[in-house]
Amino acid sequence: MSKKDILIVEDEASIVRILELEFAHEGYTFDSAMDGSAALTAFEENSYSLILLDLMLPEISGLEVCRNIRKDSDVPIIMLTARRDLTDKVAGLDLGADDYITKPFEMEELLARVRAGLRRNQTKEDETSILQVADVSINMLTRQVLKGDALLEFTKTEFLLLVYLVSNKGIVLTRDQIIEHVWGYDTESSTNILDVYIRYLRQKIDCTQELSLIHTIRGVGYSMSEPQIV
Ligand code: CA
Repeated sequence: MSKKDILIVEDEASIVRILELEFAHEGYTFDSAMDGSAALTAFEENSYSLILLDLMLPEISGLEVCRNIRKDSDVPIIMLTARRDLTDKVAGLDLGADDYITKPFEMEELLARVRAGLRRNQTKEDETSILQVADVSINMLTRQVLKGDALLEFTKTEFLLLVYLVSNKGIVLTRDQIIEHVWGYDTESSTNILDVYIRYLRQKIDCTQELSLIHTIRGVGYSMSEPQIV
């Protein structure tokens, strides 16, 4: 599994060649697939920020590839279509493709649309990779936790617990749910450890003892939300 910028799906070798040259020149990382099944295999094995998808492919059509990719990803898809294929364009957009370019295309236009697609994807990734509660933010890509501007240090267990609580912000989690998620088992005797770790987290992320982000729900468990007087 590697992360690359672009997956080129195109069966015309001459077009693949020129796209590869241009993308290499722009400094993008990419793979090329010459048919639909190669495209789906590459998509399963790697992570791409954008897919450039020719619709007229042998065997598995581009529309079919688009439909399969959309089952589990909202990666930007730019279709490559022949000028006459209006119905394919419409079908592709209906299947969730983001944009299309008509062949023959101007390279400058294609590059501009690729840049726009990559930007949209980056914004989406940035939004989903930051978890936030009050002034505490967790960057899931770098695993850094900031309180305001200050970088906080967490052990692996503390981090797991914090992320679980923050991703379920506003929801009451039972002790069993938390223990099972963070420690992977649930026994009566292990429940003490949860209180110990909650105390560690409070020491690190709370502004004062009176103003806690983690609320104790007596007889149930804990809930993370904006500060309240405890
Ligand atoms: Ca083709």
